[in-house]
Amino acid sequence: MAIKENFQSINQRIARAAHQSGRQASDITLVAVSKTVSIDKINQTHKLGINDFGENRVKELLQKADQIPAVNWHMIGRLQTNKVKEIIGKVKMIHSLDRWNLIEEIEKRGQSAGVKVPALLEINISQEEQKAGFSSGEVKEVLEAAAYFKSLEIRGFMTMAPLSDDPETSRPVFRELAELKRKFEKNQYNNVRLDYLSMGMSGDFEVAIQEGANIVRIGTALFKDTEQG
Ligand SMILES: *Cc1c(COP(=O)(O)O)cnc(C)c1O
Repeated sequence: MAIKENFQSINQRIARAAHQSGRQASDITLVAVSKTVSIDKINQTHKLGINDFGENRVKELLQKADQIPAVNWHMIGRLQTNKVKEIIGKVKMIHSLDRWNLIEEIEKRGQSAGVKVPALLEINISQEEQKAGFSSGEVKEVLEAAAYFKSLEIRGFMTMAPLSDDPETSRPVFRELAELKRKFEKNQYNNVRLDYLSMGMSGDFEVAIQEGANIVRIGTALFKDTEQG
């Protein structure tokens, strides 16, 4: 089965990159990005030992989470405020806290549901116009506001590097996000624990790990079917 071989090769590459940054493979969480992937394939992947899956659309996430409740589901895509109430309490982590009104909505819905909502601040390091996320300059204000949250817990940062065929293009972006984490983890903000850096996808996850990622979000490299090319 292709997925098994893909997984083995990804594992080796994760381990190598982890060692290069003075860590171990077990320090890195692989989130298998299963958007458009069938339930069958997700089940097969789960059996290989993957327990974390990422989706970028609420409807698809909820349908899959309903059928495979035993794994951790991660919301990694842009989240509409009117969908927040549907996924509160059903996801392990929201990676895409990218604007103030989303923060407010999650806090409000999380409070009324009486649940904690772990999430990552999405930072638009590369400052691309079309890209979602807070700028580095806004981070301080958000972390200060977090002191008043009762439900939302900020657990780290997430970013997406600009699309490129060359993974080295992503390195300065990942490095800057890692620096941002180091800078802000020195301060103590209530309700904030900057444990996670979610960065790196199929094309650049090794570079991301070398720069300090401890969550990588991998879709294509895992689910591509080598038999079909
Ligand atoms: C699709 C997606 C990924 C995975 O991308 P691949 O290149 O297929 O590994 C990671 N993060 C987000 C936010 C995505 O939407």
